[in-house]
Amino acid sequence: MPLPHGGKLVDKVAKGERRERLLAEAKAMPKLCISLELAWEAFNIANGIYSPLEGFMPQEDYLTVLHEKRLPNDLPWTIPIILDVGGELDEGETVALTVEGEEPIAIMQVEEIYRYDREELAELVYGTLDVNHPGVRKTMELEDKLAGGEIELLNMPEDPHQRYTLTPLETRVLFKEKGWKTVVGFQTRNIPHLGHEYVQKTALTFFDGLFINPVIGKKKPGDFKDEAILEAYEALMKNYYLKEHAILAVFHTEMRYAGPREAIFHAIIRKNFGCSHFIVGRDHAGVGNYYPPYAAQEIFEEFPDLGITPLFFKSFFYCKKCSCMANEKTCPHDTREHIDFSGTKIREMLKSGTDPPRELIRPEVIEVLKRYSNPFVEG
Ligand SMILES: [Zn+2]
Repeated sequence: MPLPHGGKLVDKVAKGERRERLLAEAKAMPKLCISLELAWEAFNIANGIYSPLEGFMPQEDYLTVLHEKRLPNDLPWTIPIILDVGGELDEGETVALTVEGEEPIAIMQVEEIYRYDREELAELVYGTLDVNHPGVRKTMELEDKLAGGEIELLNMPEDPHQRYTLTPLETRVLFKEKGWKTVVGFQTRNIPHLGHEYVQKTALTFFDGLFINPVIGKKKPGDFKDEAILEAYEALMKNYYLKEHAILAVFHTEMRYAGPREAIFHAIIRKNFGCSHFIVGRDHAGVGNYYPPYAAQEIFEEFPDLGITPLFFKSFFYCKKCSCMANEKTCPHDTREHIDFSGTKIREMLKSGTDPPRELIRPEVIEVLKRYSNPFVEG
């Protein structure tokens, strides 16, 4: 099992008496109301999912991540983890981070408040300034300044998917208990179709365990709802996977759709969970046509020191001549023989009330989706 990114699992979760004391002190602290998405980022930092980060990024981290895709100590890191603030907040203050006036989620020592360039942030992370890109649009709506500083978690954000929420401390114990020495991580924001299943099982053939880790949180309209993704995976795994070799747990964060940069970020997170390998498919974390189809695989060449091994997969299709799943390296037949797994196509079929063929999607998964009047995130 690889060491966490940076060598040590960060633990910034206040416990026992210390937590009680900080909760009491937090009552007198200035409050900073944050979104639920940012509360989950605080959870991710505190539980070591973002090791070695111990807080929201100060300016030096922010700038080297943006320009070098690395932290100031040269460790790979590609996505800025930032807290945007408007209004009154002073450097040197300790503030309580709350979500809509509830109990504080965390306290933060505000080391630094700094201005930044929104357009530079969007252009470097997303490779475009087109506001039709969901990440760019979000960046343009951020407050004017960023606050950097260490945090300490006092409470969990409200979690509708608690039974699927595991911390790296927990997954590392679990992998060890199962006797897994090599674990392959799979990132998803989709319901599973047979193309995904084939990629996962091809990888699993060579390793001890499979860690299926869907991103749960804010997504763009037209993406599948979190509940639908989890129920679909549960149905799939119950019927087609061995408990001894596959685990499902969620990663609470917002999809950024940052393509190549997000692929590296996703790999680092799975390394922290204890994965030795990470699956990178076609157009990983992409959206629309903003990134070349295999750019998210090529970027790994810049990071020989990542500490988790990427596994690159071509897209799979069903070939009627081969009578099985195949890809362009294994099947010699004409594309007319192929049934492909375009997520868009499956989505359209579901919307129009047509069952996707069994070559594309398991009947148990279709049954789950049929229970929803609308399995998609609305605009
Ligand atoms: Zn074929």
